[in-house]
Amino acid sequence: MIKIAIDGPSGSGKSSVAKAVAAKLGIVYVDTGALYRSVGYFVRTKDTDPHDAEKVEALLPLITLDVRYENGVQCVYLNGENLGDKIRQPEISMYASAVSAIPAVREFLLETQKSIARKNSVIMDGRDIGTVILPDADVKIFMTASNEARALRRYKELSEKGVEVKYEDVLREMIERDENDRSRAVAPAVPAKDAIMFDNSEYSLEDSIDYVINIIKEKTGKTE
Ligand code: C5P
Repeated sequence: MIKIAIDGPSGSGKSSVAKAVAAKLGIVYVDTGALYRSVGYFVRTKDTDPHDAEKVEALLPLITLDVRYENGVQCVYLNGENLGDKIRQPEISMYASAVSAIPAVREFLLETQKSIARKNSVIMDGRDIGTVILPDADVKIFMTASNEARALRRYKELSEKGVEVKYEDVLREMIERDENDRSRAVAPAVPAKDAIMFDNSEYSLEDSIDYVINIIKEKTGKTE
């Protein structure tokens, strides 16, 4: 079994790269951001302030999350409902970032993440995979790109999904969210000491995938 940790800020291309690498290597892709988004989504439906740690914590016992793989695609079920793209709205990104700073929320999601990695060879993407979730990962990569490159990717992704957004708003919210994620007291989004830094501002998606596959090959000998 191999464990690959891919961390980095939003729009750094982690999920597109990790998804493609998982398909190539025949291992499981785990999008951990979807779990924080699902909690954020639930908190939103309850009209609760996502910064109010006590109120958010009180909601956690009402949440059952189930991660399933359907035709190779990760689906998160919240209390039996497949949330699909509902968690991809920009508003939910901000809710996810706010609730992810609450220690009880991180604790709540810890076992779900660890148990998937215990049962499968995985490539997991998030913010604290190399530092907290898989400290013994075989390969750790921290992906970054310039603010503009990342905002442009996120803007295109949302536009393609039919979400109406302005580039300036995407850039502003992304910078705010990154700052929240980097500066929080628990599991801040920082590289693990032994992570390989990969700035892909100037890389195409295909080149990024090749770059990551080569690192994995070098470190683990795994090619397919
Ligand atoms: O990766 P994604 O943008 O979907 O993540 C949404 C939010 O969830 C992030 O902004 C971050 O606050 C939080 N998150 C986290 N730890 C992870 C994955 C995501 O705190 N491992």
